[in-house]
Amino acid sequence: MNPLPEKKHADRNGPDADARISLPLETLRQMGVEALLANGLSPEHTETVIEAMALAQRDECHSHGFHQLPGAVQLIRRGPLVRDAVPVVNDRSPSLLQMDARFGYSLLSFQTGLPVLVEKARKTGVAIMTIKNCYHFSALWPEVEALTERGLIGLVMTQGVNCVAPEGGNKPTFGTNPIAFGWPRPQGIPYVFDFATSVIARSDIQMHALAGQDIPLEWAVDSDGQPTSDPTAALKGALRTFGGHKGSALSTMVELLTGPLLGDLLSAESIKVDEGAGLTPLHGELIVALDPDVFLGAERAQHFDRAEGLFESIIAQGARLPSQRRYEARQRTLATGEVSIPRHLYERIRSLTTTTG
Ligand code: NDP
Repeated sequence: MNPLPEKKHADRNGPDADARISLPLETLRQMGVEALLANGLSPEHTETVIEAMALAQRDECHSHGFHQLPGAVQLIRRGPLVRDAVPVVNDRSPSLLQMDARFGYSLLSFQTGLPVLVEKARKTGVAIMTIKNCYHFSALWPEVEALTERGLIGLVMTQGVNCVAPEGGNKPTFGTNPIAFGWPRPQGIPYVFDFATSVIARSDIQMHALAGQDIPLEWAVDSDGQPTSDPTAALKGALRTFGGHKGSALSTMVELLTGPLLGDLLSAESIKVDEGAGLTPLHGELIVALDPDVFLGAERAQHFDRAEGLFESIIAQGARLPSQRRYEARQRTLATGEVSIPRHLYERIRSLTTTTG
């Protein structure tokens, strides 16, 4: 397979700098809170949803920052998202915690279940939290980092909007189905990767469409199955998985582990719930937590040192570790307290705080 061209993130680079506005992250966060509360989302969900957007904005993951807010308001106004859903906790077994989001956002379930998941992992070495009946829009790395901050290894997966064709096919069959992994490091920031099993996240295609920018032909096919550089045609057609048949199989795995295993929807079933609108999908999430102390006991430090050797050997070759760009962005934002968003998004968010649907 030919190497894919380097991704261009429409919102991350300079050409539209004049059309951008810099403002304190706290101001943006407050605007987001007001917008969601004004549209009827409960304070508990509002807090977790805005925190996820703020973390993404802080780390310059623009596609999962406040770019998501207008879609969130659309989803809240349109239903069937339950605005004040209270997660139900089912402590199923010593290693399995089942959360039912009751058709609300996933994030409150994650926050509610996290202490129980951590306690289980520390007792058994391996614990899983599942979240079903949830609307999921956020990046997965904040959840992985919630585990690494507690000294645990994390593996998280969920489905995405059904818009990806299997390798060799041309019909939306999978979601964008991201997988994230985190490894706590003895000193400093964790090793974390987090990516969609599609070539690109769907929100990046949406952002190219909004910015009027073409996409590489390798990213997607149109509704006739032909490669396309038009983001709007791509949104009507299908994205491709990364890595050909390998990404296609990983994406199938995510469908199985976050759909049927949880008694929940496949992404192709989920898209029917919002009648094909392609808003935030409804389905499940799987979170695995491993406690290295239980695996290794007193030998943890020795073997984690060997892991450090692996990271060093990667960097020594001139390669970079995943999340490095993100961690650098985080440092920039923390130093200034400011973030930059497109002016049209700023105006849109302002309008959302004054309109109740
Ligand atoms: P990217 O391709 O932007 O990045 C994937 C990962 O690879 C990141 O950890 C990134 O680190 C790392 N990376 C990128 N380039 C390099 C490199 N040259 N060397 C080493 N590591 C590298 O991710 P996607 O576009 O696939 O996904 C973006 C986000 O979208 C994810 O957070 C994902 O969870 C989210 N998503 C959420 C969905 C949902 O429904 N909830 C659905 C689909 C996606 P870095 O960030 O530092 O560049």
